[in-house]
Amino acid sequence: MSAEDHKQDTVGRIVAAYATRSDVSPDDIVALYHRLSGELAKQGLVEAVAPASSSAALRPAVPLDRAYTEDKVFCLCCGRGFKMLKRHLGAEHGMTEAEYRAAFGLPEDFPLVAPSYSQKKAAHAKEAGLGRYTRSLPVPQE
Ligand SMILES: [Zn+2]
Repeated sequence: MSAEDHKQDTVGRIVAAYATRSDVSPDDIVALYHRLSGELAKQGLVEAVAPASSSAALRPAVPLDRAYTEDKVFCLCCGRGFKMLKRHLGAEHGMTEAEYRAAFGLPEDFPLVAPSYSQKKAAHAKEAGLGRYTRSLPVPQE
């Protein structure tokens, strides 16, 4: 698949997801398609996929300040909530996390994994003995 095909495919998937929302009109969908195609074409002049574009190409399905809770992160393409978005983005929208961030102009530290989920993983890692000691504090030997 060429970079151009991939871009068209990505646009198609995003628009298709957007179209499943009840709060969008056909005009919105057409406008989104043109806007996205234009944005991606512009980016294409510079790079196949421009990282962290400063201008958000899409109107998110969920306001950014409500895009995640302790237990869930919401997909800005379709508004569905997940513990982590990576697999959903790939499976449903054919996007990588980087493409998703670029499409919505998300900052690098915007969570794509539910905070409680990543904390649980961090806690589990600590229990397993990872990250318990710093380099300045040597592990006591018995
Ligand atoms: Zn989605």
